[in-house]
Amino acid sequence: TNFEDLGLDERILKGLSAMNFRKPSKVQERALPLLMRNPPSNLVGQSQSGTGKTAAFTLNILSRLDLSSEQSQKTPQALILAPTRELARQIVGVIQVMGQFLDGLIIGTAVPADSATRPTQMACSVVVGTPGTVQDMIKKRIMNASQLKVLVLDEADNMLDQQGLGDQCIRVKAMLPRTIQVVLFSATFPTHVHRYAGKFAPDANEITL
Ligand code: AMP
Repeated sequence: TNFEDLGLDERILKGLSAMNFRKPSKVQERALPLLMRNPPSNLVGQSQSGTGKTAAFTLNILSRLDLSSEQSQKTPQALILAPTRELARQIVGVIQVMGQFLDGLIIGTAVPADSATRPTQMACSVVVGTPGTVQDMIKKRIMNASQLKVLVLDEADNMLDQQGLGDQCIRVKAMLPRTIQVVLFSATFPTHVHRYAGKFAPDANEITL
């Protein structure tokens, strides 16, 4: 398969060339056709870091964004939850490069920060954050969750290793539109992660590498 066969927008293909991605990795080849299906369906994927999963969920998100008005550009349509602020920042970097040719794409980071540097309004198209900060921002109406159509939980196993983070993700999800497309990636699937994935992303297509 080539990226051209996946039905990706020209501007997204240009972003991929700029990154020097010539061919989809295995996880991208498996995940993208499922992720980009319409109507959207949930996906649970087993994938180690280093396999290209960030690009897989990013390409699906970029493909689904409506950036046709200033209002839509400034209202979050996709939310990515990561276990650490370092990972959140890395993901932001990937989206920025891959989406560089999409006019009006604004990416926001929702990670713990002191009040001085904390945004008062998440006026962006995509939010990448850690669960506690995202939950707080939605509760305080700093972030509008009403237009979200894709939710990604990255490194679920890592998330569940940290006290309370798994529950926090569930509390965030409870505040989002019911019909949101849920995507969950985990490097490993011990029983507790599998059980969690079944609840968090019900009726999902599953891929293992
Ligand atoms: P990830 O699994 O998302 O942490 O990404 C692993 C690494 O593989 C990153 O450094 C990406 O830049 C790179 N990568 C991901 N997809 C591709 C691709 N299709 N072609 C070449 N490199 C890729």
